[in-house]
Amino acid sequence: MPDITALLRDLDGLDLDTQPQRVRRRSRDFYWYSPVLKAKLDHVSADAVVTPRDEAEVLRVMRACWRHRVPLTVRGGGTGNYGQAMPLHGGLVVDLSEMSRVLEIGHGRVRAQAGAKLCDIDAAAQTHPLRQELRIHPSTHKTGTIGGYVAGGSSGVGSITWGLLRDRGNILGLRVLTMEGEPRILELRGDAVQKANHAYGTNGVITEVEMPLAPAWRWCELVLAFADFMTAVRFADALAREDAILKKLVTPIAAPVGHQYLRPELLGPDDHCVMLMVADLALEVLDDLVKAWPARQVWRCFVDELPKAQPPLFEYTWNHTTLNALKVDRTVTYLQTLFPPPDHVAKVEQMYHHFGDEVPMHLEFVRFGGQVACFGLQLVRYTSEARLDQIIAYHDEQGCPIFNPHDYTLEGGGMKKVDQLQLAFKREADPLNLLNPGKMIGWDDPAYDESADRRFLYER
Ligand SMILES: Cc1cc2nc3c(=O)[nH]c(=O)nc-3n(C[C@H](O)[C@H](O)[C@H](O)COP(=O)(O)OP(=O)(O)OC[C@H]3O[C@@H](n4cnc5c(N)ncnc54)[C@H](O)[C@@H]3O)c2cc1C
Repeated sequence: MPDITALLRDLDGLDLDTQPQRVRRRSRDFYWYSPVLKAKLDHVSADAVVTPRDEAEVLRVMRACWRHRVPLTVRGGGTGNYGQAMPLHGGLVVDLSEMSRVLEIGHGRVRAQAGAKLCDIDAAAQTHPLRQELRIHPSTHKTGTIGGYVAGGSSGVGSITWGLLRDRGNILGLRVLTMEGEPRILELRGDAVQKANHAYGTNGVITEVEMPLAPAWRWCELVLAFADFMTAVRFADALAREDAILKKLVTPIAAPVGHQYLRPELLGPDDHCVMLMVADLALEVLDDLVKAWPARQVWRCFVDELPKAQPPLFEYTWNHTTLNALKVDRTVTYLQTLFPPPDHVAKVEQMYHHFGDEVPMHLEFVRFGGQVACFGLQLVRYTSEARLDQIIAYHDEQGCPIFNPHDYTLEGGGMKKVDQLQLAFKREADPLNLLNPGKMIGWDDPAYDESADRRFLYER
């Protein structure tokens, strides 16, 4: 058993929190979206939380954790979904929220401390004389940090134009501290950023992030209502392929979700919808495109003219759709599905008819490996874990892989395969497995491979 008291003594003078309720609260994320993870992880708590003010303090914390063999789990905004930020083996949570400075803005790039909030980075880039903005951000723009997004996120608002975080060029540089007797400070650039991208902080602590920026546009939000869901999806697919129409969101959502959980003032119980964010200069051509479809425009507002009390439209999309549903009905949960190109529309249609209202459709169109595709963040009207497993298995069998949000491991929440690059980096950067232990199956079980089925994951 690691000696936590001795560790805390070594950290004297730092901002330490050992009050049990607060430590427990700061040891959780949005794992409770999943009834499966809720049952498994409810008891999880760190022994203490430390909030370093600068990189020197992070290094001091890491050296002490190494000396006392205490696990360390980094926390940004704590908005991850998969229990990513939850310290399965206790120890120390390192809260980076005080390391939140935007360090440098240049032509097409921004460098910030890892604890900087995405909204603050965007505000700094938009008000800078170069008038730029982040290419992609999660719908947790207000609360998520850039370090947490890189270590735990994947895609989001903007992915219809710019693809996924893991696509080359969407992360420019990462400053990473290794967990060794004497930590090393590495600057990962180019393809090397993939060593720590979406690794849940299991193989390094990111203290600075450099991201690409796009020119800032004046964005307009629209909601279009359709009488038929597959017509809405075909419209979304057609718009997604219009490369010259600048857009950030193309989000079809099946009835009755829009009415039941999202915008009842706009959408009736039978209205399927597509939520959009389009740059102002594209509105005229968008209007002409829409005329060819049986669509009813029920919302149109420039983002900079939104009424004060009105959340931005992106806070009804991506994983906010699930959050809004959960605010009304605590029994729903969700899936994260890839409908791979080029047959994504046909696959969506198959699943839509197969599951009906048991799995209400919510799609996010994206650029995927240079093609148009869509992710499903479908809601699930949850009845039991066994039924959830059946639903997941059916999607997998039919060629629609699920990034299982009911599994807290990197592999389970990803493509079921061990990421050999990240595993190799962990061997060199965290040889004692002190960083967020228990999240990388490839480390815990060298025999694991992609042929292992999901029962294996649940029975661990
Ligand atoms: C309502 C809702 C909507 C969401 N929408 C999206 C979306 O559109 N797209 C998307 O990709 N995700 C989405 N997410 C997931 C999550 O909000 C984002 O990925 C977010 O950017 C995570 O940032 P965070 O600061 O909250 O990270 P945290 O939850 O604090 O951490 C996430 C993971 O990264 C690790 N970590 C955090 N900081 C560091 C660091 N500096 N160094 C090393 N490891 C670190 C943590 O240990 C944890 O494993 C959503 C979640 C919710 C609840």
